[in-house]
Amino acid sequence: MEPFDVDLFVIGAGSGGVRAARIAAGYGAKVRIAEEYRVGGTCVIRGCVPKKLFVYAARFAHEFEDAAGFGWNVEGTSFDWPTLIANKDKEIARLEGAYRANLDRSGVEIVPQRAVIEGPHAVRLADGTRVTARTILIATGGRPNIGLDFPGRDLGITSNEAFHLERFPARVVVQGAGYIALEFASLFAGLGAQVTVVHRGDTLLRGFDEDIRARIVGEMEANGVSFAFNATIASIDAIEGGKRVRLSDGRDLFADEVMLAIGRVPNTVGLGLDAVGVHLNEAGAIAVDADSRTNVPSIYAVGDVTDRANLTPVAIREGHAFADTVFGGKPWQVNYDVIPTAVFTEPEIGVVGLTEAEARAQGRRLDIYKTDFRPLKATLSGRASRVFMKLVVDQADDRVLGVHLIGEGSGEIVQMAAIAMNLNATKADFDRTMALHPSSSEELVTLR
Ligand code: FAD
Ligand code: NDP
Repeated sequence: MEPFDVDLFVIGAGSGGVRAARIAAGYGAKVRIAEEYRVGGTCVIRGCVPKKLFVYAARFAHEFEDAAGFGWNVEGTSFDWPTLIANKDKEIARLEGAYRANLDRSGVEIVPQRAVIEGPHAVRLADGTRVTARTILIATGGRPNIGLDFPGRDLGITSNEAFHLERFPARVVVQGAGYIALEFASLFAGLGAQVTVVHRGDTLLRGFDEDIRARIVGEMEANGVSFAFNATIASIDAIEGGKRVRLSDGRDLFADEVMLAIGRVPNTVGLGLDAVGVHLNEAGAIAVDADSRTNVPSIYAVGDVTDRANLTPVAIREGHAFADTVFGGKPWQVNYDVIPTAVFTEPEIGVVGLTEAEARAQGRRLDIYKTDFRPLKATLSGRASRVFMKLVVDQADDRVLGVHLIGEGSGEIVQMAAIAMNLNATKADFDRTMALHPSSSEELVTLR
């Protein structure tokens, strides 16, 4: 027996760390997990889950408006931010409790402290305790990038604070044009705020299919979001009754809250990585191989700290594969080919697979199918919003390489499309599939 305190020490009880800890413990490993903030990590505490609860809250506004065309009288509705915050906090506390209970049940010991690496087999806790481990897993996630330097930057908030605002901000300025900026812009607008998105470029959502990028601006504008393109925030001043935001093009905006959503950075600072010689990549993320192993053989890393695909299901899978491989004698590697993802804007975006540009860059000849239609519900609600769908198909073998959607339920639809793509579905397979009528998704099996 080697003289280690534990078989596995996990740093960070978020999506990836918790899954890895529980699975490893299930194989009989002695596991300890350190968490410096709250068990559950970003997704549960200040990411996916509270965000989606806010999205649900925001969408009622449209439901109430749309209801009139169907004969409902919903006059007199009102929204109370403190109620939403309190109910959200209660649910997050319940979920955190469930995560703790699951770790306990699995026999994982939770250490409610910051941990840093002290050697290939040693970590140091905030209270000074040294723990030795056969294997160390770094699952410390990421944090908002606040790397901008302009006067008044400290007056801005990030997504972390947005979940705990005491008062609902009636005017919001958001900088950035990625997932977080656009989701929060949509949800604040849905809840009644006047929202302006400030973006250094002129197209939203870098990396998404160009047709999605071209359409989402108009759709969001129709839902009350304004855009200031080719601009950045030059300064923020506290003024009476709010904040003045000066843009790089000289314009002034006035806001109650200014949210910076310009990406996230991996949590590697102060972790002791230099001392043990763990390599980082150019983006400052921990460099790992396909088994999530760093260049130090006893140290592994999963999730956002490795900056592969920064999504919860990916972190969970990386943690699971690590535990099966290292502790279960069942080695496997995560497949990053088919990752469905949704942007919970209003309207919602759902995508899986290659964009048209990515597929063309691989030298493929493509068949592109698109449709753009007014959903049935809009005929009575009168809402101007349209649904857009696009299939990217390989001419060589008819395989569906990408599905790109904007419209209600897009996230739910692409989850199912991802199964078809994992089975190498062809356009002919889509066409052979009986339509479900009336639905929006039936258009995907009737595209010509
Ligand atoms: P995390 O979940 O970030 O967990 C890391 C944990 O490590 C944290 O709890 C942290 O406190 C702890 N920690 C850090 N350093 C130390 C240390 N030295 N010692 C002890 N503990 C430490 N993904 C989706 O798939 N769908 C979504 O809808 C979605 N929405 C999001 C919305 C927002 C606003 C944000 C910010 C993210 C969202 N994400 C979403 C991304 C998702 O939250 C992350 O990809 C996921 O949480 C990554 O999991 P992880 O295990 O790598 O890290
Ligand atoms: P993203 O990387 O998605 O977007 C960052 C945005 O900030 C881009 O529009 C980028 O512009 C802009 N930007 C970057 N640097 C600067 C700068 N110095 N000045 C001005 N603008 C800048 O990051 P997010 O923070 O939105 O989200 C982080 C990750 O979290 C996502 O990529 C995703 O993996 C995950 N996430 C997933 C969600 C989901 O699944 N629904 C929801 C929320 C987060 P440019 O395009 O010009 O580079």
